[in-house]
Amino acid sequence: MENRKNWAGNYTYSAARWHCPKTVEHIQELVVRCGRLKVLGTRHSFNGIADCAEDIVSLEHFDHVVALDRERRTVTVEAGVRYGQLCRQLHCEGYALHNLASLPHISVAGACATATHGSGDSNGNLATAVSVMEMVTANGAVVVLSRERHGEEFQGAVVGLGGLGVVTKLTLDLVPAFDLRQDVYENLPLWQLAEHFDDIVSGAYSVSLFTDWRSARFSQVWLKRQVKDDGASCFEAKPELFGATVATGPRHPIAGLPAEHCTEQMGVRGPSHERLPHFRMDHTPSSGEELQSEYLVPHQHAGAALGAILRLGEHVAPLLQISEVRTVAADTLWMSPCYQQACVAIHFTWRKDWPAVSKLLPRIEEQLAPFDARPHWGKLFTMSPARLQSLYEKLPDFQQLLRSYDPQGKFHNAFLDTYIMDA
Ligand SMILES: Cc1cc2nc3c(=O)[nH]c(=O)nc-3n(C[C@H](O)[C@H](O)[C@H](O)COP(=O)(O)OP(=O)(O)OC[C@H]3O[C@@H](n4cnc5c(N)ncnc54)[C@H](O)[C@@H]3O)c2cc1C
Repeated sequence: MENRKNWAGNYTYSAARWHCPKTVEHIQELVVRCGRLKVLGTRHSFNGIADCAEDIVSLEHFDHVVALDRERRTVTVEAGVRYGQLCRQLHCEGYALHNLASLPHISVAGACATATHGSGDSNGNLATAVSVMEMVTANGAVVVLSRERHGEEFQGAVVGLGGLGVVTKLTLDLVPAFDLRQDVYENLPLWQLAEHFDDIVSGAYSVSLFTDWRSARFSQVWLKRQVKDDGASCFEAKPELFGATVATGPRHPIAGLPAEHCTEQMGVRGPSHERLPHFRMDHTPSSGEELQSEYLVPHQHAGAALGAILRLGEHVAPLLQISEVRTVAADTLWMSPCYQQACVAIHFTWRKDWPAVSKLLPRIEEQLAPFDARPHWGKLFTMSPARLQSLYEKLPDFQQLLRSYDPQGKFHNAFLDTYIMDA
């Protein structure tokens, strides 16, 4: 394997050996033979969560759709399939996933393992769609866990942070294919957002708010609205939204970057998988040269948490490319930041300057501490392990689950040892 870096190039994996198995039997053999190993998805995490000093296994050959069950309305996929590839196939069959992240390039297993999310008050993170997982566990056995039959154990395993085994297949809930239109509004005054936050974020199937924290406004509001066949939703975009004005052309969330990288806007109707992600599958998502952090706070603290970041604005802005605010519904997955609480996710796309960003993150974390902000598992944070652990009431159960599946710690790495096991 020539390239040993993650997608952003800010992290170099330390593994001595890399493997690209093509069969489940080969995965089983590797698991039995290796002392410590870790699976790599599409490498879009920004920290060492997927790293291992000994063996890394890539499931890039496991990218097939295995079965569509129309009766149960589910699809079973191999773990390494990317959302973009899966959703195209689902659309041809008349189905869709309930939500997608900002980019379609990531693997299903990697995204679910870290509780990756999109936006929308009613939309749980992507892992909430999982109903069955097939894994090769530490002793080489193939284990199948299902939402129906394995109750709480299943709720603990889905956002598994790569710690339970090699996920080989996932079954996902589907919805009938649906269409969305995407409209962008510019320059939302902060006072309007403060007064009408809930009206704004509940105003569409999925809403994203962008700001650079440089002024008393959010630079862009992306509304992804459902279009039904009755024609009732085929409307001209209103010229104004809480003081923001409708964009006169397509936009990229980061000022100055080409809008061609983004999914179609200007109210043009299209299939949900071509509107929910901000970025197109065949283009570079986001800026490419960047670092990312994200903190999730309980929805009811949205206004206070945004105010706290605003107070740090003069320190945040010089290091920032763009910030995005989204909403995520509550779920029941133990290690999801949205476990039993609807959240607002405050995201930062940073300039690629880790020395400066790493000095600022503790200040952001301090400001967000009163709201029990939980960092995204796949992004950069500086919170102490003790603090992070205190934010997850199901952590002791998760530790127990990891021990029972993997008594020798075969799937542990420095990240898990530090943030999960070291209690
Ligand atoms: C440009 C960009 C945009 C992003 N946008 C969003 C967004 O909109 N919303 C959001 O929430 N996040 C977002 N992220 C973060 C990203 O979704 C997560 O980091 C996600 O985990 C990446 O998936 P991956 O396939 O690259 O997994 P990796 O980073 O490769 O791995 C993540 C974890 O999954 C584990 N894993 C992967 N495959 C398996 C398997 N088969 N079995 C067991 N464990 C496995 C790994 O061991 C590791 O622990 C973004 C990242 C980038 C770079």
